[in-house]
Amino acid sequence: MSAPESTKSDCSVCGPGKNHTIVASFERHWDSGDGRHDMGPSIDGVTYWTVLVCGGCDGVTFRTLEYNSEHYDQHGRGVPSIEIFPRPTTRKIPIWATGMNLLICFKKAGEVPFLLHQVYRSLDVECYSLSLMGIRTILERMMINEVGDKGTFNANLEAFTAAGHLSSIEKEAFTIMIDAGHAASHRGHHPLLQELEVILDALENTIARIYVHNSRIQELKTTIPQRQKP
Ligand SMILES: [Zn+2]
Repeated sequence: MSAPESTKSDCSVCGPGKNHTIVASFERHWDSGDGRHDMGPSIDGVTYWTVLVCGGCDGVTFRTLEYNSEHYDQHGRGVPSIEIFPRPTTRKIPIWATGMNLLICFKKAGEVPFLLHQVYRSLDVECYSLSLMGIRTILERMMINEVGDKGTFNANLEAFTAAGHLSSIEKEAFTIMIDAGHAASHRGHHPLLQELEVILDALENTIARIYVHNSRIQELKTTIPQRQKP
């Protein structure tokens, strides 16, 4: 019996380009006249469907890899289009926003964790404008959760800052993030993934500071032996 074939593929857990075992495969050669493709005249190609098992985590994925006669690099090598299901995660959800941590850390966060998970899912399917709109909604919900709705964005921001949730530097960053979300909603701004990564770094930091780290520290306080009075 021959050894199973292997290939490099992306894994949500282990990262891009990891060794995978091919446990099932099917290929079909095609051309533009077969009724399955709408790519114009005289185009042909081949599609490979494979079920893969990651060598690192044993995770199973289904991959479609397709070459066609019109898509190749400067060396004349075919450039495939690749689809993987489930899609590799674009950005990992912070550990404090998963499992039991979610229940322990987000007692007062309202719908913030729910919206945060939707933002990560929209990243995975490259809906970057929707991600940015979602980030703006999270920021606005955080302010209202903490200080109530004062009627306008500026009034909410002032109250949120006065309540000690933002320093003057963080207040400016918060305003820029909100404005980016507004631009996606109303000014046709289509953010790049790199822009979203910068904003998500700041968003995760803000959420963790307000909802996670403080509650963890408060729990830690209950485990610290009290000073004995002399
Ligand atoms: Zn893996």
